[in-house]
Amino acid sequence: MNSKPSSQSVLKSAQLLVIKIGSELVRGDKVDQANQPWMDALASDVSTLINTGTKVIIVSSGGVALGRKALKIPKNIAPNDIPLAKKQAASSVGQYHLFNGFYKAFEKQNITAAQVLLTMSETENRRMNLNARETLHALLENGIVPIINENDTVSTKEIRFGDNDRLSVRVAQMTRADTALLLSTADGLYTDNPHINPQAEHIPVIEQITAEHFDMAGDALVGLSTGGMKSKIEAAENAMKSGVDLIITEGRELHALSNLYKNKDKKSSLFIAKKCKESARKIWIGSHMKPNGYAVIDDGALSALKNGKNRSLLPIGVTDIQGDFKRGDVIEIKDSSGKRVGMGLSAYSAVHAVKIIGKPSSEIISVLGFSGRNSLIHCNDLVLF
Ligand code: GLU
Repeated sequence: MNSKPSSQSVLKSAQLLVIKIGSELVRGDKVDQANQPWMDALASDVSTLINTGTKVIIVSSGGVALGRKALKIPKNIAPNDIPLAKKQAASSVGQYHLFNGFYKAFEKQNITAAQVLLTMSETENRRMNLNARETLHALLENGIVPIINENDTVSTKEIRFGDNDRLSVRVAQMTRADTALLLSTADGLYTDNPHINPQAEHIPVIEQITAEHFDMAGDALVGLSTGGMKSKIEAAENAMKSGVDLIITEGRELHALSNLYKNKDKKSSLFIAKKCKESARKIWIGSHMKPNGYAVIDDGALSALKNGKNRSLLPIGVTDIQGDFKRGDVIEIKDSSGKRVGMGLSAYSAVHAVKIIGKPSSEIISVLGFSGRNSLIHCNDLVLF
């Protein structure tokens, strides 16, 4: 028996699967119309999977793509070039078509679909993150399939995920899903761009992402999609770190999901998760996209953190503080060369932190006039990369 993991073996053993669907797949021949036959086929595949005991969450793009006509956005404008206000308006039209299409498709399978719209800032806030997680689990426990998209009408540039590859991994982390599947226009990762280089070789299994993989991946494609292969590799890297296996496969054909499930010859790339012992809380800390500041630490502090001599970051090992953060906010930890080496919840606000760095913890009370924590970032709140 072949014990090497494959996309098929991973899919078959998935307990909670997040399926991300690209815009190109859900748009029908007519602009502003959902691709109902495709959605029907997907809902039927998902229903089969649910009957085998796998829970499924869908993250679907297509809000903007399905609202383009109403907002008179010409076809040749790439999603990233649409002015923000127009894009937000388009998404509010298109999201209706998108969810309506999925709702009808799942209804045919006697499954209820629920619309969930998330913003990045909400998922970076611990309380809201937990709240969204509870909601999603409540839906799943009642046999309902959540259909998630970014809340594009309110997400401005600074607070956006930007592409649903990242959002789907965030959802997987939040819900402790074990598998993510990106249904895309690409059938996986190649050693070079297969449209330009016929010698490019397909890579079916990736155990470790390196800089070479990023070089192999191209930037965003022009068309309806926002993320290119690079954003998928970034998403995969993030997924692997948090114990989520991630699969990329071509999803345009009808029944792409069941084809992948059954057919070993269907091309895909599987990114195998690291064995993950991190708590959900630490995964949440380490996957923050918009930390509010950073602490630069000296080499001694870095090696103490690394070799476990002192697992908390003490103020004495910090050489600089930047940013505007409050106590309890997530901040980055950088080494003396400026490289990001970790993340953590700061026990002090930026205003207080700048006053105590470089000082022994015993002096905190005399410097600040109150006694706070001994460490700037406690070991329970700290993630090293
Ligand atoms: N949220 C965007 C939409 O629904 C999609 C972003 C993406 O393409 O990844 O149009």
